[in-house]
Amino acid sequence: MAANINLPRILRVGAGASAELTVTLRELGVNRPLLVTDPFMVQCGYSERILGPLTDAGIEVGVFGDCVPDPTTDSVEAALAVLRDGDFDCVVALGGGSSMDTAKAVAVLALLDGPMRDYKVPYQIDNGLPVIAIPTTAGTGSEATRVAVISDTQTQEKMLCMGLGLMPVAALVDFELTMTMPYRLTADTGIDSLCHALEAYVSRKANPFTDSIALTAMKTIAQNIRTACAEPDNRGAREAMMLAATQGGIAFANASVTLIHGMSRPIGALFHVPHGLSNAMLLPEITAWSVEHAAPRYAHCARVMGLADSTDDDARALEKLVNGLRQLNHDLSVPSPGAFGIEEAVWFDSLDVMAEQALASGSPANNPRIPQAADIVELYRRVWAA
Ligand code: NAD
Repeated sequence: MAANINLPRILRVGAGASAELTVTLRELGVNRPLLVTDPFMVQCGYSERILGPLTDAGIEVGVFGDCVPDPTTDSVEAALAVLRDGDFDCVVALGGGSSMDTAKAVAVLALLDGPMRDYKVPYQIDNGLPVIAIPTTAGTGSEATRVAVISDTQTQEKMLCMGLGLMPVAALVDFELTMTMPYRLTADTGIDSLCHALEAYVSRKANPFTDSIALTAMKTIAQNIRTACAEPDNRGAREAMMLAATQGGIAFANASVTLIHGMSRPIGALFHVPHGLSNAMLLPEITAWSVEHAAPRYAHCARVMGLADSTDDDARALEKLVNGLRQLNHDLSVPSPGAFGIEEAVWFDSLDVMAEQALASGSPANNPRIPQAADIVELYRRVWAA
């Protein structure tokens, strides 16, 4: 079957890209934006940095500055109320995945009736107001995906929402905005990107277009993630990680994520573990469980990431891949679920619900080794013990 690739209409990539918002709005024929962002962006001056040139150009802007990490249906409703109060023709998303997903949700709900929970997968959301995404973390790739992840305030489920209506029409990918990321955020969001690339490459929906992008992103992240964490001012590492994050987003959005992301969302929803960190906790164990079912592909990942060399046969490369991912978690001080502070009894009491939510997202069905609910429960047990 032919691959179906979706991308933003405009991608501006590199230092200073975020300063080109005014010209981007002009190109898109819109002139009444609502900026959707979070309190840190307002406090650290990024919001003002983005808004200044618009004001100078006589463009009137509304601001919703109360996005929360792992956006909820309640926080999306609050942003929607601001949007409906004004006469906005587009949404500018400034921040990490949480602000971008809030902005996307608001942009589609503006044209729909009812709450976000009515539109989770398998529903396909086709339309929305134009979104211009300006990422400030090098991680989610949400600036280039037709995905939004919104937590249901009533049920605690981290809902996956999909459709072309959620694809930003433009993304301004400016690594200079990531220079302020602290160590933990750099590490977690970087591992999120690595998971996007690795999962896209081994996904049952992988295709030649996404393969090349996923491999490039994987290699770049493997080469730069430790430097970006250890040397926050290293522009080369920051630039590389930002580009790879957008590439990771393009790869997974057009090939799908797999079991890691499927199992990660319930951990985030129930225990409020930052998204990249829950992916990191899962990455080595889920990879170890899956590798035999796509051995040549996983072995290739090991070689591309510099964990194995060309003289290693596939079996040796797989071993080195899993060990290399464990080492990466160690080097980046990724805590176990217990060390993060999750109570053991609560973790084990939640396994069935987490497995059910993981399967309901559909992502595990794209894994090279397709799990049953009992497999997922067993994997959560292993991740606890790792
Ligand atoms: P985030 O947006 O939740 O931000 C985390 C914190 O980092 C916030 O306090 C924010 O203010 C701060 N921050 C952001 N940029 C910063 C910077 N440059 N300097 C200092 N602090 C900064 O983090 P995230 O990891 O980017 O996003 C996670 C969310 O994205 C989750 O809800 C996840 O489910 C979602 N997600 C969405 C997609 C998608 O395709 N839509 C893909 C993966 C993840």
